[in-house]
This record gives sequence, structure tokens and C-alpha cells, in this order.
Amino acid sequence: MINLYSDTQTRPTDAMRSAMASAEVGDEQRRADPTVEKLNARVAELLGKEHALFLPSGVMCNAIALKAHTTPGDAVICEQECHLVRAEAGGIGLMAGLQVEPLPTKHGRFTADEVRKRKARLLDGVYSPPVTLLCVEQTHNFAGGTVWPVEQLNDVTATAHELGMATHMDGARLLNAVVASGQSAAEHAAGFDSVWIDFSKGLGAPIGGVLAGSHDWIENKARRYKHMFGGAMRQAGILAAAALHALDHHVERLADDHANAKLLAAHIADIDGLELAHGEPQTNIVFFRTTRGTAEDFAAKCKQRGLDLSTLYGDLRAVTHLDVSRDDCERAGTIMAEVMRGLPADV
Ligand SMILES: *Cc1c(COP(=O)(O)O)cnc(C)c1O
Repeated sequence: MINLYSDTQTRPTDAMRSAMASAEVGDEQRRADPTVEKLNARVAELLGKEHALFLPSGVMCNAIALKAHTTPGDAVICEQECHLVRAEAGGIGLMAGLQVEPLPTKHGRFTADEVRKRKARLLDGVYSPPVTLLCVEQTHNFAGGTVWPVEQLNDVTATAHELGMATHMDGARLLNAVVASGQSAAEHAAGFDSVWIDFSKGLGAPIGGVLAGSHDWIENKARRYKHMFGGAMRQAGILAAAALHALDHHVERLADDHANAKLLAAHIADIDGLELAHGEPQTNIVFFRTTRGTAEDFAAKCKQRGLDLSTLYGDLRAVTHLDVSRDDCERAGTIMAEVMRGLPADV
């Protein structure tokens, strides 16, 4: 099976498994796991923040950040299709008690002016909730792995701060943006009070995200919610070792995933009956659609021939990652062309 379903499908490599097997461990909850402490320090430095916190998942990184930056009843401005609104089971409402002020966009990116306008639309005084947080997703998953330019990030975060909001980056795939843009993770994260990266996506680790911010915010706010939400662990160094291995070996190679996504997109653009939904991919995510039949039917037929794709909002999504080679992407193109030829013509 060629697995383009998601970059969450990566399995730990043999080298990663041996790094995990030989990891030094301790009680993470008591800050006595040396491998977790090492990972936290390494990610804090990478992201240009004072401190960082290892967590079991990206969803928990977002949940803790939302909770730690706001008071229930506040409002948050974010993009309308962002992961924390669309794919986190309503935790934003249950755990943080926030009203969402969603901004519709074309490519997952909004402007400082749109932030200003949205804030201005809220009435004065007792009528509106305080808008205390701005969230940004880099890269934007459901907009097709699109990259925010650093300048635009700086613009929206400066405006948010001026308007009294804290700023949070969902950087699940920030390192894809770093590789695509050639600008460092710290440059991308500079305007954000908090930022996290995911290790279980294209970086190829089995589990984990690391949330970074100021020393005070991490130790006195985020760590409390980590414990409350059940994210405090014990001998978690075995997992942190996989993340450290990924930082050493799986970052630069993200460029291969981006090249493979472009190759796949070129095949898709050439197939009669398929079209790219967001143009040429900037990173490792390709959204496309079929102009004949349904996405679900097309995906089911591809699966019968050994190609796994996902469907979302009536579109198809292919995501490249370290378990998918250039040859696999060539073969995926062939499979999609074969399936499309076998479908009934447009009526
Ligand atoms: C996958 C993802 C998450 C959630 O991360 P998990 O590690 O799966 O919990 C959050 N935001 C974005 C943009 C994602 O792609």
C-alpha cells in the first residue's frame, strides 16, 4: 500500500527504535527524566523561547495553550478552517470555554487589517467578550500545507499585541514551513507568546509535541494544565528519544517530501478529470478534486489498487512523508490515471 493518507502514518525507523530502546529515563512528572529535559531545552532553543514542555499530542498542546492564555468567556480570533476549530472535538469550547471569532480565508492566511476589523466588529462594553487570543496555523493543514511568510506573521502578531491579545502558533508542521522558506523556526515564532511543533507528523516519531513559551508561562500555567489534562507522564524519555532522533535526522529530509508533493501534483494536473484544489503545493500536502464522480468513490477505487488517500470536504488529500518514496509518488500518479480512465464519463 502506498500510504498518502497522512504524514501521521509514518512508522518509527529502526534507528529511531534503537534510540528509544537505549534512552536514559526517569520520572517525567517530577522533572527527573533526563531525555525529556534534553528535548525540552533543545526545542526551546530551536523555537527561540525560554522554555518548553513535552506533551503527548498536538491537540493537547493547543488545548493547554488556549486554556493558559485566556479566561472562560473570552473570545479567540483564528482562521475558520484551522485544526483547533475543525478537528479537536470542540475542546476549545469545553476546556477553554472560548467564543471563536473565525476569519474566512482562501489560503489559510489572514492579514493584520482583517484582525483589526474583526476586533472592531465586536461591540463595546458589556455586549462583547474580551478578545484575548490570536491563533495562527503554520503550515495551514486544510488550506493545503500553505506557508505564512514571516513578514505576515510579524504583522498579525504585532497587531494582536497592540490590541491586547496574546498570540499562539499551532506549528504542527512549522518545520515544513522552515524548510520551504529557508527561514529559521525562531524567526517564524518570534512574534508568538507560545508555539509548538508536532513530532508525530512528518518528523516520523510515534507520539508527542513540544509546547514552548516564556519560562513563567510554561512553568506556572502550562505545566499545571498538562497535569490537569492528564498529560504528565512517567518514563517518557523513551518517547522523547524518538523526538530527539527526529530533530537530528528527519528535518532536512522534509525537502524530499516537498519535492515529492510537487511531483504528485504535476501528475494530478495532467490527469483528465482531476484538478488541484489549491494550486501547486508549497509543502507536503496536496488537495485535489475529481470533476467526475465523488471523491469517496475515487479514493475507494484507488485503495483497491494499493493507494491510500483521504477525503475532506468533498476533496481528496494526499500527504507525502518519510515512508513514501519518489517512486511511490510516480506509481501513485499511474494508479490515479488508471482509476480515472475506468470511471464513467461525465453526464
Ligand atoms: C495534526 C495536527 C494537530 C494535532 O496534533 P496531534 O499530534 O495529532 O494531536 C493540530 N494542528 C494541526 C495543524 C495538525 O495538523
